Amino acid sequence: MKTLQGRTAVITGAASGFGLETSRLAAQAGMNVAMADVQAEALERAAEEIRGLGAQVLPFRLDVSKAAEVEALGAAVQQRFGAPHLVFNNAGVGSGGLIWEHSAEDWEWVLGVNLMGVVHGVRVFTPMMLAAARADAGYEGHIVNTASMAGLVNMPNMGVYNVSKHAVVSLSETLHQDLSLVTDQIGASVLCPFFVPTGIHDSARNRPADLADDTAPTASQALSRAMMSKAVGSGKVTAAHIAQKVLDAVRERRFYIYSHPHALKTVQQRMDDLLQQRNPGDPF
Ligand code: NAD
Repeated sequence: MKTLQGRTAVITGAASGFGLETSRLAAQAGMNVAMADVQAEALERAAEEIRGLGAQVLPFRLDVSKAAEVEALGAAVQQRFGAPHLVFNNAGVGSGGLIWEHSAEDWEWVLGVNLMGVVHGVRVFTPMMLAAARADAGYEGHIVNTASMAGLVNMPNMGVYNVSKHAVVSLSETLHQDLSLVTDQIGASVLCPFFVPTGIHDSARNRPADLADDTAPTASQALSRAMMSKAVGSGKVTAAHIAQKVLDAVRERRFYIYSHPHALKTVQQRMDDLLQQRNPGDPF
């Protein structure tokens, strides 16, 4: 895409972390920004900041796991700006635990936000973008979904999160393949970052109010929090780097999986060692 000036970005999880940094960068590039998040007050504060950068901002409070709320976002974006040029399906939540320990409610919550949130974003915005591409040969768009390194390699004690993020990688690759069957004006990419300091590591914070849990963490929750707090900040990647990758993806419009190659190799090696210790002599 030659210029982002005057183009439109839709960003979920825009009140914090990667979503807020990407809103900043998109505004600085001259884009209109539809900012969507479940946290009403944080969203208002974030929207105010982005308006201060001179952008046209549409703040939209929603829960991405709810189909009707994402559909309402689509209608609001269409009415205010027309078809978007960047859709960043990014809202997500974390939950640690041994795979058999997650409650049914936890599975529904994490898969609802991390997987169905992306599914609804794709369902609502892709047809809108395809219609814009059919109407205008000069239209270009890109969809960027946030998975995680946990979408490429499974990590212990992060069961439901691993499953949700593997599904997002699969969805994103399939989306790009299917788009390439019908148009070369729209593409998709997926981000697979590894432990970047943001609000998500305060994992209870993102829970919807009706699921708020003020009981003491279980042993496995405590273990995964300790694992995360050790890893957070150990790398040099920041939310601003991730935001830059999102804008690079929309500018370049080719499918790419962003990950930290060194961290991926190390994590993969640790998991292989673990399996090898448990299954010595296993031909696999
Ligand atoms: P963050 O907590 O700072 O931001 C996530 C935002 O999503 C928050 O503003 C939150 O309110 C919003 N959100 C949560 N549930 C929502 C819902 N149901 N509907 C709408 N909005 C909702 O965390 P972040 O690190 O910026 O996370 C962004 C994405 O990056 C997530 O998908 C996360 O899984 C992924 N990720 C983060 C890291 C990391 O280390 N920070 C690593 C890999 C992947």
